[in-house]
Amino acid sequence: MDCRIDLNKKHCNCTYEPCSRKHKCCECLHYHRQNDELPACFFSKEQERTYNRSISYFVEMKKYHS
Ligand code: SF4
Repeated sequence: MDCRIDLNKKHCNCTYEPCSRKHKCCECLHYHRQNDELPACFFSKEQERTYNRSISYFVEMKKYHS
């Protein structure tokens, strides 16, 4: 299977720089999962810019914005 990095760029909303995992969704997901976090694309534009990737923040935001 070919790497889908060009396609991934279209779906990535992460503004954190620098990051060697940018657009490598497999590496990004594993990294954040190991830290009980979620990748940037789980969060809205405003939420993503807090750089809080914790699962607890995700759940909290879902409670107030759904
Ligand atoms: S979500 Fe995290 S690992 Fe993924 S590109 Fe952004 S900073 Fe890097």
